[in-house]
Amino acid sequence: MGTITVSSATLWLAFGTFAFSSTAITAGYHRLYSHRSYQAAWILRFYYLIGGAMALQGSALQWAAQHRDHHTFCDGPKDPYNINLGFWHAHLGWVVRQTDPDYGRVKDLSVERMNRWQHDYYGTVAFVTSFIWPAAIASLWGEFWSALLVAGAIRLVIQWHMTFCVNSVAHYWGSQKYSQNHTARGSWWLAFLVWGEMDHNYHHTFPNDFRTGTRWYDFDPGKWFISVAALLGLAKDVKKTDKERIERVTLAQTADD
Ligand SMILES: [Zn+2]
Ligand SMILES: [Zn+2]
Repeated sequence: MGTITVSSATLWLAFGTFAFSSTAITAGYHRLYSHRSYQAAWILRFYYLIGGAMALQGSALQWAAQHRDHHTFCDGPKDPYNINLGFWHAHLGWVVRQTDPDYGRVKDLSVERMNRWQHDYYGTVAFVTSFIWPAAIASLWGEFWSALLVAGAIRLVIQWHMTFCVNSVAHYWGSQKYSQNHTARGSWWLAFLVWGEMDHNYHHTFPNDFRTGTRWYDFDPGKWFISVAALLGLAKDVKKTDKERIERVTLAQTADD
């Protein structure tokens, strides 16, 4: 094997793979499966299962069970990404030390056949979608190995750190406009670092809202994706916190300061 070349087509493929799978994580694994912020047509749910596996972040059942624990037991010993055990534990340490989550927490999801299928065949689905697919596409222009490296391995490492930042950075730096009952924080620059999971303080305060902030133009591909899906009739019962409640909570929080 000679030197490895990476053409712009392969770089675009890597970005496409990244965007496709990251949106499946935020709109699917996070807001649909973990929080049930809306209802989605089967074609969307199928996309989330494929895209989520492509991000190599575990099955939807595993991800949602852990994430529900994170919200219920936030900042305590049963929080899988407990920030009080330090920044690095919340960022990466929990992945290494992780124990099996309590699947009893996702009974509502495991009744669905498609979710059980993804969970049972997760290893194969993840390997095929995250490595073989991009490499097979790039083989059309003769860059199988470059794509395996760039759209597969390198893309995944970047993507993992971006997701981990929600558990570490977003519980460490930033403002607490809505609540101080948990360590979650928000900042505008975080949006770009974490593919739109922007105001984590907002999210922990209103976890069932399909957005992570109130302004439609804030960078949040998951929110935009769900909005377009709703327009197309592929998503319904999209949950949004009402304005008055947000104002009340914000005022109470400012008074506490
Ligand atoms: Zn959090
Ligand atoms: Zn959440």
